[in-house]
Amino acid sequence: SYRKGGYHAVRVADQFAGGRYIAQRKLGWGQFSTVWLAYDTTTSAYVALKIQKSAAQFVQAALHEIDILSSISDGVDVNSKCVVQLIDHFKHTGPNGQHLCMVLEFLGDSLLRLIKYSRYKGLPMNKVREICKCILIGLDYLHREHGIIHTDLKPENVLLISTIDPAKDPVKSGVTPILERPEGNINGGVTSLIEKKLKRRARRAVAKISGRGVSIEGTEAPKSERNLDGIDVRCKVVDFGNACWADKQFAEEIQTRQYRAPEVILQAGYSFSVDMWSFACIAFEVATGDMLFTPKVGQGFSEDEDHLALMMELLGKMPRKIATTGAKSKDFFDRHGDLKRIRRLKFWPLNKLLVDRYKFPESEAREFSEFILPLLDFTPEKRPTAQQCLQHPWLKGSESAPNDSRVEKVAAEMSKLKIKTGK
Ligand code: ADP
Ligand code: MG
Repeated sequence: SYRKGGYHAVRVADQFAGGRYIAQRKLGWGQFSTVWLAYDTTTSAYVALKIQKSAAQFVQAALHEIDILSSISDGVDVNSKCVVQLIDHFKHTGPNGQHLCMVLEFLGDSLLRLIKYSRYKGLPMNKVREICKCILIGLDYLHREHGIIHTDLKPENVLLISTIDPAKDPVKSGVTPILERPEGNINGGVTSLIEKKLKRRARRAVAKISGRGVSIEGTEAPKSERNLDGIDVRCKVVDFGNACWADKQFAEEIQTRQYRAPEVILQAGYSFSVDMWSFACIAFEVATGDMLFTPKVGQGFSEDEDHLALMMELLGKMPRKIATTGAKSKDFFDRHGDLKRIRRLKFWPLNKLLVDRYKFPESEAREFSEFILPLLDFTPEKRPTAQQCLQHPWLKGSESAPNDSRVEKVAAEMSKLKIKTGK
């Protein structure tokens, strides 16, 4: 993909925007872009530099993403809105063409990696609450203040916020920016020993930047990270490459498979509530370590039909009216609203699933089910909005609740003691 129209090859210490940004190390990549950690010499801060492929359709996509990002990064107090902020954007010409570049605030690991750190066992409930709260704040902001639907919400697209700001606290974070390319590295393409060393150093540095125990690189979490208790979990929603305005939609098929809402499969039109469906899938995944729906093609049925069957096994039968009114309804349902090719469903309600398979305590399973089931309503209009969801009692007191109850317990013991001793 590093050819004409494709990715732009970057090396450590490469300069962008007339020398303002200096490449430090690669953070990740997607279908359309590579993302680099860069040092902003103007503000002395680290940023994420997203460099788009250069072919016309990628330029178009980047322009769209910049359009969306600019509108959501604009306004007062946006930093608290749990969506990634666009700092700058510019064009960069290289051997493969002209690349649009986005300068984004630098964030940490994705929720997917956090789930991996939990060894796919799921996070403690108070962490799940904090994560859910952040995502909902982000969605409420997008939906209500901007009329934007994200359309690709999934754990990869929610990134943690670093707890240490390397720019404000370079001593603590132990990071020194790389400002110049080491000598002897002008032979393009071949990585010199020095560059390898520098890369290693930058990697170590970045691992530290991401703060308390959450490293960016590495497939396995260091020992200290196995205990997720100490992590301050705050996060932001990223990747607006597929986002759209509710009144200006482009694609019929949206969302990543496992997080896709039923109305999208049936092509029955969609709105903000598709994000709420994906949100519920993420909440389940963060809590259990497993994806909520993992449809597969089978003998005589498609992935789509399996997906609809899985949904009904968890949530009950889809109302006939919903099942039969999409453009693709006839591919899956007969006129009674029964699946054509998958006839026998094994119902396993969420509450029971959480207790039986994931060993949730009964009360925790009930409370969590009560929180996410309304979001998985087959009727999109019935799903709560992000704003309504933020009022849900399950989210209340995410940080103080455990302490409060402990304090109450101690107080109760004390008063018992007082009665006994008569003091
Ligand atoms: P694409 O649109 O090409 O899929 P993404 O926006 O999803 O690109 O970014 C690709 C990867 O780069 C992400 O999965 C993540 O690992 C990393 N990344 C993206 N934005 C940031 C950021 N602001 N801070 C840190 N890493 C980021
Ligand atoms: Mg992506």
